[in-house]
Amino acid sequence: MIDYSLTDEQNFLRETVRKFAENEIAPYAQELDREEKFSVEITKKMGEMGFFGAFVSPKYGGQGLDYISYIIMVEEIARVDGSQAATVAAGNSLGIGPIYYFGNEEQKQKWLPRLCKGEILSGFGLTEADAGSDAGGTLTNAVLDERKNEWVINGSKMFITNTSNELSGVVIVQAVTGKSAKGRKELSCFIVPTDAPGFESRKLHDKMMWRASDTSELYFDDCRIPAGNILGNKGEGFKQMLQTLDGGRLSIGSMGLGGAQGAFEKALQYSQERKQFGKPICKNQAIAFKLADMAIEIEAARNLLYKACWLKNNGLPYGKEGSMAKLYCAEVMGRVANQAVQIHGGYGLMKDYDVERFFRDQKLLDIGEGTSEIQRLVISRYIGC
Ligand SMILES: Cc1cc2nc3c(=O)[nH]c(=O)nc-3n(C[C@H](O)[C@H](O)[C@H](O)COP(=O)(O)OP(=O)(O)OC[C@H]3O[C@@H](n4cnc5c(N)ncnc54)[C@H](O)[C@@H]3O)c2cc1C
Repeated sequence: MIDYSLTDEQNFLRETVRKFAENEIAPYAQELDREEKFSVEITKKMGEMGFFGAFVSPKYGGQGLDYISYIIMVEEIARVDGSQAATVAAGNSLGIGPIYYFGNEEQKQKWLPRLCKGEILSGFGLTEADAGSDAGGTLTNAVLDERKNEWVINGSKMFITNTSNELSGVVIVQAVTGKSAKGRKELSCFIVPTDAPGFESRKLHDKMMWRASDTSELYFDDCRIPAGNILGNKGEGFKQMLQTLDGGRLSIGSMGLGGAQGAFEKALQYSQERKQFGKPICKNQAIAFKLADMAIEIEAARNLLYKACWLKNNGLPYGKEGSMAKLYCAEVMGRVANQAVQIHGGYGLMKDYDVERFFRDQKLLDIGEGTSEIQRLVISRYIGC
């Protein structure tokens, strides 16, 4: 038997997050985008709402939600603003997730309660200037100084979300810690507090998209952290990174789904109000069919994404479905936002209309957490190519 219904709690959560997003985020989204400003106020409010640590056990200050609920939350934020959704998605999947899933009890007790309250923000430093899709090409390295019982990190990271604003508290960093028996790089992940000596973060400016989210370059110059800040065991970094990206892809999928839903609703409303040749433009079959196609693709995207989340909730393998959902939801939003601008005509090209922002914000979804080309590579391997 297949049950497609959401629980009462999940429906209530959707309503609650939608109301918050419409009242507390939507009115400021255009202005923050234009000014390229990260909003500490909105982030704090999202923390108070329990948007960080959504899937973390209440034992550590989280909400203890299932993964579909978490995805609904990100989807509803993305329905009005990709930037705020990015802050929440990166904070949960990339920052909090690795500590929750791979950290020891002491690390969880130390970091999770403040992260879950949104008092501090977290991110994941994987990408480097010369190691993007090829994340195993990491050059940043960490050496244990046994005398002082500290790891000493050197290197840099590129395009890291959530790590250069006044709330930034911690970043998970992947670094080379030696060579494996087969001569490959041995990778490990570390919890690096943003006030660690030798750590510097420089904000990146002039982004095309997610302009109200915080993106930075990170520098580690003999950056020292306690020996106990390694996540799990030495050499487990590559496995941890792959697992983190699997979960992260569901977040990116939900941003595509929510963004597509938002752009679709804007286009539908505009097409009902805008009159040309004496009638609303949606009464032209050419426009009505575009909207019908958008609705179909959004429905298909939602089913694919929720199925992947359902697999994760039930402890079943979800790597293939997660990758498919990330790719498909991102591409659906691309097609939907493109047609939403088209339906707005010349007005759709103006910054006063939200579809222009949706159109730009979508592009990151084809690139972040594994580009569309890499997703097709992953999926083709799963299906036996
Ligand atoms: C706003 C923003 C936020 C980000 N946040 C984070 C973050 O929080 N943490 C983090 O670690 N990273 C983050 N990233 C980095 C992002 O994940 C990378 O940009 C992405 O993985 C791609 O890497 P790259 O930009 O180096 O592109 P490259 O890997 O250089 O790819 C360039 C092109 O080549 C293609 N390509 C590469 N290899 C192959 C192949 N084998 N087969 C076919 N095609 C290939 C790619 O698909 C792409 O089209 C962020 C990026 C941005 C822009």
